[in-house]
Amino acid sequence: MHLKDKVALVTGAAQGIGNAFARALLEKGCKVALVDQNVERGKASKDAFDKQFEAQRTIFISCDVSSEEKLKDAFKKAFEHFGKLDIVVNNAGVNNEKNWEITVQVNLISVIRGTYIGLEHMKTQNGHNGGVIVNVASLAGLMPVAFQPVYCASKHGVIGFTRSIAMASEAANYGVRINTICPAFVNTPILQSIDKEENMGQYVAYIDKIKDMMEVYGVLEPTLIAKGLIQILEDDSLNGQVMKITTKRGIHFHEYNTAPIETGN
Ligand code: NAD
Repeated sequence: MHLKDKVALVTGAAQGIGNAFARALLEKGCKVALVDQNVERGKASKDAFDKQFEAQRTIFISCDVSSEEKLKDAFKKAFEHFGKLDIVVNNAGVNNEKNWEITVQVNLISVIRGTYIGLEHMKTQNGHNGGVIVNVASLAGLMPVAFQPVYCASKHGVIGFTRSIAMASEAANYGVRINTICPAFVNTPILQSIDKEENMGQYVAYIDKIKDMMEVYGVLEPTLIAKGLIQILEDDSLNGQVMKITTKRGIHFHEYNTAPIETGN
């Protein structure tokens, strides 16, 4: 996809990885709907973008993605404001092992919903031009993480859903490519949640073990994750792919054995 003048909707765009995504898209000439429940940070990030890019190229939409009604409304607002939608990045996520249902709700259910709503606004069958959806998972979607079992489950769910819906999109000729990005640790405010009882619940006792994991994996900068996003958007051959981003190997793709499980693989 050629990115100039494309319209993107990014959830969780007020800070962290989502904010880096928005910046990278603006640098490529896109218009961006910044969707987030944090109104203060959302407005502040629009103000910051306005200093560098034309103000009409962004809109901030206040939205809790865990509400079906509000998420639908956010897509509608973005579509009506910019007149079309080409790119959806379902990025908003939380780390909460204490009130773990919210983790499933935001990280998985809202990503599924964002994908379905995105398809309605982009698929060729509805008279649109197609597009690209990118769902943000994590390396925790590809391996067990002892002290974040529900976060881990939510991210495994994102990968399974994204690979499957990508196949469905291709079979139905929606004209929409759907891929996922799995970063290792990234230097964003979410990392501050790992030593808080209100986020980690019973697992807060294992904070040292999580910090050990950070030492092993290292911590990436959000700009590298944004580089991965741009690569997925620009390469029209990518559908159903799982991009991994790590300190040792940088941006690369997970390779699956695609033979049917029944054959013994
Ligand atoms: P972050 O906490 O810095 O930013 C998350 C953003 O999502 C915030 O602006 C927050 O307000 C928003 N958000 C949270 N819940 C929301 C809701 N219900 N409705 C609307 N907005 C909501 O975190 P981040 O590190 O930038 O995380 C972005 C994504 O990347 C998440 O899906 C996260 O799981 C994933 N990820 C992060 C890391 C990491 O180490 N930082 C690693 C792998 C994957």
